[in-house]
Amino acid sequence: MTAADTALPLDGAAPAADPNPAQPRNIMIVGVGGQGVLMISKVMALLGQRQGLQVKQSEVHGMAKRGGIVFSHVRFGKEVWSPTIAKGDADALIALEWAEGLRWLDYLKPDSGVFIADTRRIVPPFACRSRKHGATTNYARETPAEIVGRIADGYALDATSIAEELGDVRAANTVLLGTLSVSLDDPPAEWLAVIEELVPKRTREINRKAFEAGRAWAEAARRDPELRFDKSITRRPAARAPHPEVSFEVTVNAAWCKGCDICVKLCPERCLAMSREQVATVKHPDACTGCHVCEWLCPDFAISVKTNVRESATA
Ligand code: SF4
Ligand code: SF4
Repeated sequence: MTAADTALPLDGAAPAADPNPAQPRNIMIVGVGGQGVLMISKVMALLGQRQGLQVKQSEVHGMAKRGGIVFSHVRFGKEVWSPTIAKGDADALIALEWAEGLRWLDYLKPDSGVFIADTRRIVPPFACRSRKHGATTNYARETPAEIVGRIADGYALDATSIAEELGDVRAANTVLLGTLSVSLDDPPAEWLAVIEELVPKRTREINRKAFEAGRAWAEAARRDPELRFDKSITRRPAARAPHPEVSFEVTVNAAWCKGCDICVKLCPERCLAMSREQVATVKHPDACTGCHVCEWLCPDFAISVKTNVRESATA
């Protein structure tokens, strides 16, 4: 069946099943480098193949390692001719990053498209006029509440936080797969079998939990439409008030660092360097402005940036 047929009505009623799809199912997945866009595409493509359907996929991921745009089109059905999805023809749009989701909204079917987005924001360097603490950005301003009128059916959740709570932030893409699975009619066991086939063996357990968490969230949101859009996202990324007594703690998880050098090259304050062992290290911690660029652009989630306010300032 097509996602168009399965789009959830806003009253939360269950979709009607259509076992004999006449039109290809069109799924678009968008995000930035390192978020797992291609993993979601592979899951969708393999699901289609296992149903004996024709599958076509196309993707752009040239800038993936620089935190650049990554998008993928997956189409499957009895007969699929083109590998790309035309504007206004996507049955589902899965966005791993909030602003990327907004940029591709025009691709959704206006009357029936399903929008699923992680509300976590990754502010690209070009959107930062100044990377100093407290500076504002040019990041997208729309909130979930503002776009709800532009889509037939939508879900916006903090999938990254859900994955983080489960123990591995890298499973956010699987949380979104769980959410999507509620809008399509393939049995959860089929989704899980495909996911387990595609992820490394050691991450199967966390991916299973992430999938189930995404499903549970979507099922709750179907019962209560008020839950569908994470209301914590504000009009702009919260401005970090400048504070003279604030400091930043940059930590590199050496076990996850693959030595790609991206954080070293992109840190605007030149705080980072590669060690002899080809692991990123914090060479000039005092120069850090807490811009989070290294944290957001590390493709392996190996860096975290913590803000500390000295006790004398909070007393
Ligand atoms: S921490 Fe390691 S993996 Fe991450 S961007 Fe820096 S060098 Fe690359
Ligand atoms: S170390 Fe990270 S948070 Fe600090 S200035 Fe460099 S890129 Fe920004």
